[in-house]
Amino acid sequence: MKSKINLSATAKIHAKVLERKSQNLPVYDFSIGEPDLPIHPLIEGFVSAKLKQEKALYPALAGFSQLRAAAAKWMNQFYSCDYDIAEALIVSGAKFGLYLLLQRLVQAGDEVIIPVPYWVSYVDMTKLNDATPVLVETKENNWKLTPELFLQNITKKTKIVLINNPGNPSSSVYSKFELEKILRIAYENNILVIADEVYSGLMYQDQNFVSCGAFPQYKKNVLVLQSCSKNFAMTGWRVGFIFGDEDLLASLIPAISQTTSGVPAICQWAALAALENAQVIMESVKIAMKQRRDILINQLRKLSINAVSPSAGLYLFLPLSQFTDEKNSEKFCLNYLDTRGIAMIPGSAFGKEGFVRLSFGSENSTLSKIELEKPSV
Ligand code: PLP
Repeated sequence: MKSKINLSATAKIHAKVLERKSQNLPVYDFSIGEPDLPIHPLIEGFVSAKLKQEKALYPALAGFSQLRAAAAKWMNQFYSCDYDIAEALIVSGAKFGLYLLLQRLVQAGDEVIIPVPYWVSYVDMTKLNDATPVLVETKENNWKLTPELFLQNITKKTKIVLINNPGNPSSSVYSKFELEKILRIAYENNILVIADEVYSGLMYQDQNFVSCGAFPQYKKNVLVLQSCSKNFAMTGWRVGFIFGDEDLLASLIPAISQTTSGVPAICQWAALAALENAQVIMESVKIAMKQRRDILINQLRKLSINAVSPSAGLYLFLPLSQFTDEKNSEKFCLNYLDTRGIAMIPGSAFGKEGFVRLSFGSENSTLSKIELEKPSV
């Protein structure tokens, strides 16, 4: 039977990375979007103690109430929101959170507005739920959706707009002013906003992050996706959050009960330790990623590749023309990995041909030892 979704270019690169590793060939992995850091000692200590005291039985489907309360408090304290415990749902990563929302909210014929470049899963997940992705070129307007572009793409079928802030792969950040306009248009047109804010803690300048959940007048209309993955360097624990309308969140619980049965207890304890020590842990992840960003940019300069230093996020999104005359980003990335052992993600995976994405989440050693050379492809 034909599948509705495709194997992403990300998955193809990853498979090649694994193949090279199994053959003991060198790999400099700039493909994977994760802060590669050891688990923070405060998390490790808390989880070890819990394991001695408690059994890890089936968890509450919506998440432990202590963790839901801590998650709401974190959003309120860090991002000026006003969520209570019933407005916070614990899910198996933001990715599954997005899946749950789309599965619940859209049906065949509905349109989901997705600014380009987009995170790889948005389009396939929309299709998986039989809805139609409406891709909006941001015309290199700092890779952000403008009110004009948003209005131009609204139809009677528009159900959802997806806002990724800070962006993957763009690392662009929306201002309060920009968000207010988008949220107002969404509200006036009865469109739900799903705000994917999983990189909110990785802000490297003085600018504050503004959450879509921090606008009381539009609160009913907004669903915020959050996660421990990037902000707390906990990708493998698979703990994410949805913040939003209490009744809508409650209506997602049957799907959790018929699929994952909730997030594993041990992972929820780890998330609790993370949130209760958010200031310290988020700061340590941010400092490490900022340092890695600077190392990668310096390495690229040696190659005469000029990258503007992103003010947020985990990625450089660079024109392919800085590396090669080849026009096909997937072909280039596969070839570059074969010949140099350097893994990057082609822009085509994010809906933007002619670009490549480099993550600076890798260990310092990968970033600084790499010998970049102008390829001959
Ligand atoms: N949203 C964006 C924009 C991402 O880049 C990612 C992971 O790369 C996710 C969501 C998934 O987050 P999680 O690990 O919590 O599923």
